[in-house]
Amino acid sequence: MAVFFFVMALGVFALIARYWSNRQRLQRLLSQPMSADHRAILAEQVPIASRIPIDLRDKLEGKINRFLDQVRFTGCNGLEITDEIRVSIAAQACLLVVNSDTWYDNLTTVLVYPGAFKSRQTQHNGYVVIEREIVRTGESWSRGPVILSWSHSQQGAANDADGHNVVFHEFAHQIDDLSGRTDGVPNLGPKQKFSEWARVFDTAYNKHVQLVQKGHATVIDAYGAEGYEEFFAVSVEVFFERPTSLKREEPEVYQQLSMLFQLDPSSW
Ligand SMILES: [Zn+2]
Repeated sequence: MAVFFFVMALGVFALIARYWSNRQRLQRLLSQPMSADHRAILAEQVPIASRIPIDLRDKLEGKINRFLDQVRFTGCNGLEITDEIRVSIAAQACLLVVNSDTWYDNLTTVLVYPGAFKSRQTQHNGYVVIEREIVRTGESWSRGPVILSWSHSQQGAANDADGHNVVFHEFAHQIDDLSGRTDGVPNLGPKQKFSEWARVFDTAYNKHVQLVQKGHATVIDAYGAEGYEEFFAVSVEVFFERPTSLKREEPEVYQQLSMLFQLDPSSW
């Protein structure tokens, strides 16, 4: 009996020790400044990062460290993974969560293609299964990897005021998925109410679908009319890249996203 309790105590002790060591490792990553090389890549590749408020810059660097420690990057179609690729993608992904407690807990892999890539899509139509190959610039799997085209990820970061950013888009899907379903309703911020989010996004989505069907120009990309989850992802792209336009045209969507991310890019 005494041996049993001794083994139990040893097991519990090992678990506690592992928990503390992981916690300390995480604290170290979050508080550590980026290396000079990584900082130079960040400044060159992701211009939006130099516009964020001073008090968020250290947080961003810490979260990029954590991301690079957690996520393995794999090059596809012969692409060699460089620090440029890792830091650029990590920085864009971390910008979304720089000021909130949201984290990409389930993410361990990012696959990167040199350019647009082919992806197999399966549609179930009654008894018929239709398979087709489509060309994509990014893809986000539920509880799984993010797949990106490097040339589009790089361009998206360089043009940071056109409202299009494939990395923001795919990582918005990852954030959405943390709630258990990729349905356009992420886990909300501490000051948010589901009823308010649903009212704002329902109204904005229905209006968006009508405008797109009539062929009108919209600040949120027309692709958002594909479904709630796409509407959320393209809204996130615009929130960071054309915040003033989004705030003017869809003030309530802007406000909800601002509460979700605890950020106000219109002031950057
Ligand atoms: Zn999407």
